[in-house]
Amino acid sequence: MERKILHVDMDAFFASVEQLDHPEYRGKPVIVGGVSDRGVVSTCSYEARKYGIHSAQPAYLARKLCPNGIFVHGNHKRYSEVSKAVFKILYEVCDQVQVVSIDEAYLDVSSLYYSPMYIAKYIKKRVKDEIGLTLSVGISYNKFLAKLASDWNKPDGIKWITKEMMPDILKPLSIRKVHGLGAKSVEKLNKIGIFTIGDLLGYDQYFLESFLGKYGIEIYERIHGIDMRPVEAESGERKSIGTETTLSKDLEDKEEIKKYFLEFSNKISDTLKTKQMVAKTITIKMKTCQFDSHSRSKTVNIPVVESEDLYHIACELLKEYDLRLPVRLVGISVSNLEDLNSVQLSFFDNF
Ligand SMILES: [Mg+2]
Repeated sequence: MERKILHVDMDAFFASVEQLDHPEYRGKPVIVGGVSDRGVVSTCSYEARKYGIHSAQPAYLARKLCPNGIFVHGNHKRYSEVSKAVFKILYEVCDQVQVVSIDEAYLDVSSLYYSPMYIAKYIKKRVKDEIGLTLSVGISYNKFLAKLASDWNKPDGIKWITKEMMPDILKPLSIRKVHGLGAKSVEKLNKIGIFTIGDLLGYDQYFLESFLGKYGIEIYERIHGIDMRPVEAESGERKSIGTETTLSKDLEDKEEIKKYFLEFSNKISDTLKTKQMVAKTITIKMKTCQFDSHSRSKTVNIPVVESEDLYHIACELLKEYDLRLPVRLVGISVSNLEDLNSVQLSFFDNF
């Protein structure tokens, strides 16, 4: 069965939240980030884009292009609050939601009764009515095309790319639009006269592989409408990550327990990094030889991800724990998880 995938992307998210919260900013060029001259633009409103301002642009340049622009510090706590409200609506529509970043998600709506177009309009209406923001939705039969479609007529857009439209619909597009083709590859291709996806479609996969390396095959497949990547729904596992083990013999020595903590910290740190997440709460768990469970938690202000940090906090918690009976199970878990990307963004802004 052909899949039905939606890519939902908030329009100029941070800047739109600023305009929502500050009516006096509406209709004006708002630039989030880049308050200090050494910083970079995080997001800017559509009004600011008319001046040639874009994300990741050095702040001094943005200021030169638009001296009368409204430059604001990002309020990431607020953005994450709004983001959660948007995702809550998405989860009400469908449980197959893959959150990609603070303002972007894929939905696999294949098994839903309603048509993807109806679902897209419904999501847009609810987010507009309940939160006051616009978003763009791309609909297609794979993730690559759905993402391409959400960018089609931003802001407040909907675009459906069907199998019948392929590959003709892609032909006039710049190769810059191909998600996964970096600036360097684009430049390389431009040098040999390839500017549009239509130009690129004239070459076979062997050429693309020799020219772009292993990734060339993937690019070839994508522009031909082949992308089997599934929508990876989180199914609640996002809430906590942990590991524990029942010991082969009961332990009475804290130093012995610490050895397990070291191993668990490494494991959890790897999982967090793979999931691009950081944790604010660390919990240790112990079950005694009499089967009663004990846990101790600590919540930190600055989220942690490194194994050393996790280990250090776990050992601190263990120090406070009164080890009266030998333990037969030990574990560590982390919760209060946050997206590494949203955290990094706020680091950027404070830079
Ligand atoms: Mg966006």
